[in-house]
Amino acid sequence: MSFLSAPLRKPFVARGSRVTRCEHCLMPQVRCICEYRVKLQAQARFWLLTHRNEVYKPTNTGRLILDTIAHSRTFQWSRTEPEPDLLEQLASPELDPYLVFPAAPDYDQRMVEFEPKEGREPVFIILDGTWRQARRMFRHSRYLDQVPVIEPRTLRQTRYDLRTQAEDHHLCTCEVAAALLEQIGDTQSAEVLDAYFEVFNEYYHASRRKRPMTDLSAPKARLAQARAQVSIP
Ligand SMILES: [Zn+2]
Repeated sequence: MSFLSAPLRKPFVARGSRVTRCEHCLMPQVRCICEYRVKLQAQARFWLLTHRNEVYKPTNTGRLILDTIAHSRTFQWSRTEPEPDLLEQLASPELDPYLVFPAAPDYDQRMVEFEPKEGREPVFIILDGTWRQARRMFRHSRYLDQVPVIEPRTLRQTRYDLRTQAEDHHLCTCEVAAALLEQIGDTQSAEVLDAYFEVFNEYYHASRRKRPMTDLSAPKARLAQARAQVSIP
């Protein structure tokens, strides 16, 4: 399901809302990044468990994952009433779900390293919200208690500075996904997602700050190459 095919309950209205936006990528129309979208069959899929306040923000980079990685989707988070489909999928013998969250001593017994399992495709569940929302989702979602937790590791510093303050040192949703793909050895998909993110990030900044864009020929070339090789219909 495409991110935007979800019923629109509350259109995003905020600074810049008078700008005409591309319906798909939510970028201002003159900065549409749709032509750079490449769909990949990666070695994992992603589920974004999305806080209701987060869904329609143009700054949410989770949708870049949905654009790029096949079979990825969102579920609306609820503390007590998870989507039945989520529970069903969590129990699927063909999937190997991991909850993505930083390690901490009080749930150390849940932390795991990724291990490929015969006939089971890894699924990374990302709690998609602000850091504060994600922490709350992690602590209060009883139905996720049995899901092993994996910590994304990356040496990269976040380049995503559309958001401010406390979140600055956290990777954004899309960077987390790229880090995980790298972690499981799917470097090609990580590369493509990262290149798409780089284009998004730069276009977004250029449109907000009305400054010329930096040279994006490298990520654009990576995406063009990926489209030629691994794109799926
Ligand atoms: Zn677009």
